[in-house]
Amino acid sequence: MPKTRKCPECKGIVKEGQTQLSYELEGINIIVKNIPANICEKCRQAFITGHVAEEVNRLVNRLSEDINSFAKTQPQIGKRQREVAIAI
Ligand SMILES: [Zn+2]
Repeated sequence: MPKTRKCPECKGIVKEGQTQLSYELEGINIIVKNIPANICEKCRQAFITGHVAEEVNRLVNRLSEDINSFAKTQPQIGKRQREVAIAI
């Protein structure tokens, strides 16, 4: 049994789960889903380790150029739905 972690915000119980982060690059919303995180059961605060945050940042940086050129070739997406969701 892993020891119980408490949320520093509300003292709720923190359990392993997943969260999502959103970024905005060049006017396009990028949502990264399924990020491993510890989630407070009470206030839903997500705690992401530094290592995971670093990996996600790297992923988003690498994708930003590709997403830009994708948006240019898909003008209908560019106009209506400037949002890209990525599940990891
Ligand atoms: Zn909490």
